[in-house]
Order: sequence, then structure tokens, then C-alpha cells
Amino acid sequence: MKAIDVHGHIQFPDFDADRAEIVKRARDVGVKMIAVGTQAATSKKAIEIAHQFSSDVWATVGFHPNHLSKNWHHDEKEQAESKQEVFDINVLRELAKDPKVVSISECGFDFFYDKSDAGLQEKAFGEQASLARELNKPLMMHCRPSKGTDDAYKIALEILSDPKFDNLKKIMHFYAGSLDMAKKLAKLGFYFTFGGVITFARSYDEIIKYLPLDRIFAETDCPYVAPQSHRGKRNEPAYVVEVVLKIAELKGLDFEEAADELYENSVKIFNLK
Ligand SMILES: [Zn+2]
Repeated sequence: MKAIDVHGHIQFPDFDADRAEIVKRARDVGVKMIAVGTQAATSKKAIEIAHQFSSDVWATVGFHPNHLSKNWHHDEKEQAESKQEVFDINVLRELAKDPKVVSISECGFDFFYDKSDAGLQEKAFGEQASLARELNKPLMMHCRPSKGTDDAYKIALEILSDPKFDNLKKIMHFYAGSLDMAKKLAKLGFYFTFGGVITFARSYDEIIKYLPLDRIFAETDCPYVAPQSHRGKRNEPAYVVEVVLKIAELKGLDFEEAADELYENSVKIFNLK
């Protein structure tokens, strides 16, 4: 079996003590990974790790919407010390020149906690979408709507509907919107990633059954949201196999067949070399 964990954070300090072991554990089950940046510091670290494990890891650069607001909160899994940054697209552009960088991510809209800085989120998102277009790399988005709505998806969709983004590859990471919104996005060519949550929550079943397999990627979002077998514990790239299994099951496909198609498509869309 071969698989790509298209969205995880192997560069975070949560993995500092045993990173080499974890990459090896993934390799032993045929899993490679993309280390996703959340601001300049974690993007830079992702690139360093991608060079250190150059046959297993690729990197992205991006600025997560939760890091833009004045209510910025510090996640100790992500940073050993709390360091807020000011968003600067030129810093990201410089980092994105590295050949290991395969996507602009993670960026988007997070209205789950607070919408008061929507304007700031919109500005940062627009600039990152434009950078992805300029570099011809996929844009992998974090969109988290306020409860019971699709608001974060609607605004991303509105911005990306500009014809200048027609050729941009658009990926919704950890899709958690409605089936209707998924249909709308799929019609416009969007891709979707799903992680460990689909192994224990049933609200994703219908959406995964609806979407064509070639619009889906498997991810872990490690160290967060481990699948059923490790629920509540630290997540890691090797566990993406469990996500692939669940996708195959929901699609009524043979596991190896589904794994192959997910793998080939991940390599193609992210242009992994
Ligand atoms: Zn993430």
C-alpha cells in the first residue's frame, strides 16, 4: 500500500522528541506526508523537516486565519513558546521559492470562534490565493464556519469565483460544511480532504459517498484529531491508513484500489517529486 497524508504538522514541537521514529513508522506502512505551515515560523520549520526527510516529506507555506486576530491563542502543540506574528505575504513568497514547497496552506476563514476580524481574514486570504496562482501551486484552505452555517465556505467561494482563479487548484482541507455546499464546490472543481474524524463521526458519510474519488484526499491533520483506534491521543501520519480504509468502505471500493487512486491523485495534484 502507498498513501500520502496530504495535511499534517510533523514539524510541530509535539514531534520533536521522536520525529525520525514517526517518519520511519509511516514509511514502514507506505505513507509519505505533507507538512503544513500555519504562519512563517512553522512554514520555515516545515521546509527544514522536508529537506531533512527528503524522500518522505514535502512542505507548504501559509498563514492560518486563527493567527491573524487580536484574540490569537497559543497552542502548545504548535509552538513551544507563544509567538504571535504579523502577516506579511512577502515573507511567505520568499519561503515558497523552496523546491520542497508544494502548496500554499493553511489559509482561509475561521468563523467558529469569532467573526470580528473577518476583514483581516479576507485580506490575508486574498493575498495567499493570489500567491498560489502566481506560483501555480494548489491552495489548500482551512475554512471553519460558525456553527450550523456555511459562512466560511461562502466567502472563500465568492473570492475564488473571480475568473483569474479559474486555473487555480482549490482544496478544502477538513471539509465540514453541508452536503449542498459540497455539491456546489465540487461542481466548480474543488477538491476535499478528510481525516480521522470520518472514522468515528457519521456526518461525513453522505458527503464522501457523493464526491468522486478523484476529488478526495486523505489526511491526518496530526497531531490533532486521531482516528478511532487512537482517539484522544496524539495523531501521526501512519494513521492515515485508517482514513483510507474508511473512504474505501464508504465508496464500496476495494481497499488497495482506493488507496492506489488516492495516492496517484495526490502525487498528481500536488506535483510531488
Ligand atoms: Zn492543519
